[in-house]
Amino acid sequence: MKDSRQKLFQEEISRCRRFYQGVEEVEPFLREVFEEIFSFLSDNNEREGMLEKVSFDKNKARLRLKKGESMGVNPSFQADDFVNLLQRLGKVVVKNNPELKTSLYNFQTCLEQFQNEFEGRITREDVWEFKDLLLNEGILARDMATFLFSLGLSTFFRFDLEKVAESLRTDLWEGGNCALCGEKPHFGMLRSEDGAKVLECWLCGTQWVHTRIKCPFCSNTAQEEMGYFTVEENEVCRVQFCRRCGSYYKVFDTRKIAEEDIILLVHNLATLSHDLLAREEGFKPGSGLEWAEESETTELND
Ligand SMILES: [Zn+2]
Ligand SMILES: [Zn+2]
Repeated sequence: MKDSRQKLFQEEISRCRRFYQGVEEVEPFLREVFEEIFSFLSDNNEREGMLEKVSFDKNKARLRLKKGESMGVNPSFQADDFVNLLQRLGKVVVKNNPELKTSLYNFQTCLEQFQNEFEGRITREDVWEFKDLLLNEGILARDMATFLFSLGLSTFFRFDLEKVAESLRTDLWEGGNCALCGEKPHFGMLRSEDGAKVLECWLCGTQWVHTRIKCPFCSNTAQEEMGYFTVEENEVCRVQFCRRCGSYYKVFDTRKIAEEDIILLVHNLATLSHDLLAREEGFKPGSGLEWAEESETTELND
């Protein structure tokens, strides 16, 4: 199962070349990153999963979602497993960017300290705290930290929670955050069959339909305060923004891709240059996933 899925991810990377500029430059890196992720998953596949088991009563879950309350699941996982994945991803980064060798060497040392400190189960909050520490100490650049940590966490959540996400009645969910884990989305799509806006959780991969003209972050519905910009002629990747809360997220118009089962996670990583442009335009990521350096962003806030 993992092999065929790995193939789909690799095909999606190739497909992205057709839609976005500059993908060729990051393509070998992205390929190796996903090879490493799938090799990590298959090394661990004799186990039931890496996350603490999540289960809920279907009726209670339905009522909860109807009331507008996310399930807010926050399963724990082993610090050792997470450190192992990040060490492996760190090696892929160095192989592709030898100039980051020193920075990544320091990162590996910090990972060992983190592992020694926790020696057991951790939650995603522990991971984010550790990421912030690395940023404050100048160990990792912001884009690299966001890349490694968001991808690392989503590897744990996305594949383990897939079945749970499928059993959730997301058709009852109208919220702007994830019905399952509560995270705020970073990307979504316009569905090919009807153009509906479907948001996807960057962490656990849950998808849900969200009112097209509504900001997922501040629930604004005033059309004149919202808009989007595109960069490429094909206009697949829309940077959707809201002037009221100043946030942006990316929406991929899959009507223009003409393929089934698009892996939005890959499209997100192939269009990080759009995130930098959104920042230059003065918008912040509603998800909290920052891809631009502080220095590039503070000027905008002045
Ligand atoms: Zn989620
Ligand atoms: Zn807003």
